[in-house]
Amino acid sequence: MSARIQEIKLVPVFIGGKWVNKTAESYTNVFNPSKGEVIAQTPMLTNADVELAVQAAKLAYPAWSALAVPKRAEILFRYRTLLEQNMETLARLITLENGKTLDEARGDIRRGFEVVEFACGISQLYKGESLSQVAQNIDGQTIREPLGVCVGISPYNFPAMVPMWMFPLAIACGNTFVLKPSEKVPLTAIRLAELFQEAGLPDGVFNIVHGGSEVVDSLCTHPDVAAISFVGSSHVAKHVYTLGSANGKRVQAGGGAKNALIVMPDADPDATLRAIMGSSFGCAGQRCMAGSLLVGVGDVHNQLKDRLVSNIDNLKVGDTSADDLAEMGPVIDGSAQNRINNVIEKVAAEGLKLVRDGRKNIPENGFFVGPTLFENVSTKHSIFSEEVFGPVLSMMNPKSIEEAILWVNKLNYGNGATLFTNSGADARQFTQGIKCGMLGINVGVPAAMSIFPFSGWNDSFYGDLHMQGTEGVMFYTRQKIVLSRWDSTYQRQMGW
Ligand code: NAD
Repeated sequence: MSARIQEIKLVPVFIGGKWVNKTAESYTNVFNPSKGEVIAQTPMLTNADVELAVQAAKLAYPAWSALAVPKRAEILFRYRTLLEQNMETLARLITLENGKTLDEARGDIRRGFEVVEFACGISQLYKGESLSQVAQNIDGQTIREPLGVCVGISPYNFPAMVPMWMFPLAIACGNTFVLKPSEKVPLTAIRLAELFQEAGLPDGVFNIVHGGSEVVDSLCTHPDVAAISFVGSSHVAKHVYTLGSANGKRVQAGGGAKNALIVMPDADPDATLRAIMGSSFGCAGQRCMAGSLLVGVGDVHNQLKDRLVSNIDNLKVGDTSADDLAEMGPVIDGSAQNRINNVIEKVAAEGLKLVRDGRKNIPENGFFVGPTLFENVSTKHSIFSEEVFGPVLSMMNPKSIEEAILWVNKLNYGNGATLFTNSGADARQFTQGIKCGMLGINVGVPAAMSIFPFSGWNDSFYGDLHMQGTEGVMFYTRQKIVLSRWDSTYQRQMGW
């Protein structure tokens, strides 16, 4: 961990290559959620600070966008090496400020790291197309160009991965960037910026500003911002998409989710159970790809329930900042803990059976909610369609795969869904029938890797081009079509 991070009490901004402490009218506490202790404070800044960050990015843009593409790649290769060398301390930092287990934190940084690896191939990704003789004596060619100043606004649940869906590729494409990380987990972003600076990134190419809705709205309306990448809850995603688009920006905005895990009677019982536990209770349920509806078809429902309860009872919930063997950590802060507890209370009051109650048997300190299980959920219950974003799993029991697909397609979200089965025919029916963007067959968390787009649908995504993969390159660039006619003397003589 860098000396700066160890000493941070007030989270600095990073503007034009300089680290600056800013005071503000209000601050958001950064907690170690395992202990409930404040470890730093994020200043909730204003339009004036947005102006400084955007102007720094604007100033850096002409030189950065003019740099030869392989030279940009060289810096990304150095960044890749530094990230690899610092992977473990980054993972510990994520554990500290977010509460993930060490393994989950390693996954968070690794998934971001893979985007940097993808971006290292920018020379190949950036290439245009050409067709000689697109018309008589005319050659056609496409050229990619960056957009200008791009902005990233990220949520708390993946302090490394989500910002890294955005800035490495945007910068590799020749854009400059302003990141507004979640005010709840800014320390990881600070370390990611320090390492990029160490890799030789010129001043102003990457900037960080902090704040909440005022800063976000200011970024969405700033005349010098060309594009916005947002990830967070659906109502804010929709707001950012609407405001940014109305102000002429290109916007991609990932939102919330409600993901179903459909289990067929022929599924491998052990592998399926492991996948369900990881998907529903991993990261304390705070994943946009977390399985939160367990749809056990026919008789498998009861078998699953008995084994699931025993696994839940044996899950080690604990202080991830002190115990590397803890299997599930806390939720992000006291307000998330209260919100989730209130949802449990409300759903139980609707008459649903609370098979396991996460408000009980939890560590005394910190912001813990234990694994929670509801049974007999139908499409009419509020918990069917509401994103809880915590370790709360709801069991449903359809008679057939057709009924399961019908139910899942009633959801307004469209991030992920998984089918556990041994039948190719059922897998095909599921793949063709489900209306959402990321599907798993015997995979508990079908989150797209860096070479694929993170392909949410419906209320889980607003925009056209998703983050990551070649869609990411398309989002962060625009194309010129060049038609050229150079008639030679020979051609003229030949009458061609
Ligand atoms: P959030 O929407 O509260 O915050 C996300 C970002 O928006 C933060 O940077 C925050 O400062 C800012 N923000 C919050 N309220 C705002 C407002 N009113 N106006 C403008 N900006 C605002 O989300 P969160 O609680 O940090 O993260 C959890 C949510 O993110 C969940 O809904 C989860 O499903 C979603 N998520 C989605 C994906 C995806 O790829 N679709 C990935 C990760 C998380």
